[in-house]
Amino acid sequence: MSIFSKIKQTINLMKDVDLDALGKLSQKVDLSEIMKTVGELDDRQLAGLMKMLKHKGGKKGQHKLPPIDGDFYDLSLKLSPEQRELQIKVRNFMEEEIRPIANKYWNKAEFPFEIIPKMAELDICGISYEGIGKYEQPFLMEGIIAMELARVDVSISTFFGVHSGLAMGSIYLCGSEEQKQEWLPKMQRMELIGAFGLTEPEVGSGVAGGLGTTCRLEGDEWVLNGQKKWIGNATFADVVIIWARDEASDQVKGFLVRKGNPGFKAEKMEDKMALRTVQNALITMTDCRVPESDRLQKCDSFKDTAKVLKMTRAAVAWQAVGCARGAYESALKYTKKREQFGKPIASFQLIQNHLVEMVANLTAMQTMCFRLSELQDEKLLTDEHASLAKVFCSMRTRDVVSRAREVMGGNGILLEHDVARFVADAEAIYSYEGTKEINSLIVGRAITGYSAFV
Ligand SMILES: Cc1cc2nc3c(=O)[nH]c(=O)nc-3n(C[C@H](O)[C@H](O)[C@H](O)COP(=O)(O)OP(=O)(O)OC[C@H]3O[C@@H](n4cnc5c(N)ncnc54)[C@H](O)[C@@H]3O)c2cc1C
Repeated sequence: MSIFSKIKQTINLMKDVDLDALGKLSQKVDLSEIMKTVGELDDRQLAGLMKMLKHKGGKKGQHKLPPIDGDFYDLSLKLSPEQRELQIKVRNFMEEEIRPIANKYWNKAEFPFEIIPKMAELDICGISYEGIGKYEQPFLMEGIIAMELARVDVSISTFFGVHSGLAMGSIYLCGSEEQKQEWLPKMQRMELIGAFGLTEPEVGSGVAGGLGTTCRLEGDEWVLNGQKKWIGNATFADVVIIWARDEASDQVKGFLVRKGNPGFKAEKMEDKMALRTVQNALITMTDCRVPESDRLQKCDSFKDTAKVLKMTRAAVAWQAVGCARGAYESALKYTKKREQFGKPIASFQLIQNHLVEMVANLTAMQTMCFRLSELQDEKLLTDEHASLAKVFCSMRTRDVVSRAREVMGGNGILLEHDVARFVADAEAIYSYEGTKEINSLIVGRAITGYSAFV
């Protein structure tokens, strides 16, 4: 065969190859040089090359599939190299350290304390607080971190959100300079872990006006009495922020209750069907004495507590994105591998319909949260901005995880495929940091001008 006919034959063959890939290849290598080399191949070498091109580098008959990636609109391209590096660092930590143990701890309802030092190395606590964070758009990065943590394990994301967001955030927004100096650096390094105690057995949504836990000043000590329910990390935390109503002024005050206080008891809540790795506690305070120096000095009323919740609510919306993304990616992977009727189930129209609805919801959620965080970084965030994202994302996540579970058939309810855990954990996201109803009322009031709160 002449060199000319060999080249012609190769060019003909190239009609079968992935033109997109070829285009990208031509940007990286000198194709004319390659053609010259091809022309010099002997028949045996050329036959080998032709065979390889026919199969596009894969095994014979194997269909090359697109990668599994829940970032359909490439939002990661909007990140700077430093921001992207942080995202990848967190993702790698979650894939390497957490994914292999997530189901085991979730099933046992235990917390993997051994991960705390490794997590501390990521240096991600309190990154949106002045003097700590070093990233541009720190609230966006906080959201992306929440999403990356939840993408593998919502429990770990919740543990982190309670510590770095709610507990550190209370000290950051409501503490004096001395209190900040005492607690924030050690909490930032995760040498000390925090919890946030607001909800009570008898009052959840109505905490703004209905706290039953009381505080009373006696000399230079406060005496706290009452119960708190659902308090994440509280069984082992070094400090629990307790919100209580002042018997004298009827206003809400915040306290730093240190580990080992004899008037403070935290009992682990058992038998949860969601976020089982998170150690939620029922706290009982009986004449729990706290020095005035451990009262959050810049908290005068519930309005200050609400500032903390407003700051952290955006990250909860991002958690919902992570939960949905983890479920979608696991389900998509499964449908490509699982075969029925001799074909991958991903090739069935009805399965693709589920997958498309999932990726559409996920993309809407991601895009919404991205803009939400931009508003927060531009200091334009309002309560209703955060509430709308929390409502929308927690609702859509429920839909995504249920479709993820559906396309996996029976395996969808087995922990080993991860999706079952996301289905359960989506229920907790739906209720905490303001239920769907409460956040809807906040948005409703903003858009209509009428408060429908009872
Ligand atoms: C896993 C998990 C972790 C948590 N972690 C913490 C934590 O670390 N710290 C903490 O302080 N709290 C925590 N919480 C508590 C959480 O914030 C509350 O569960 C939440 O605020 C809802 O309160 P509730 O459960 O008492 O429900 P309720 O307030 O009793 O609400 C019950 C239902 O009534 C609806 N409802 C209530 N009021 C209205 C109204 N005015 N109009 C219409 N509908 C209404 C609610 O939307 C809901 O559907 C956690 C909760 C969970 C599930």
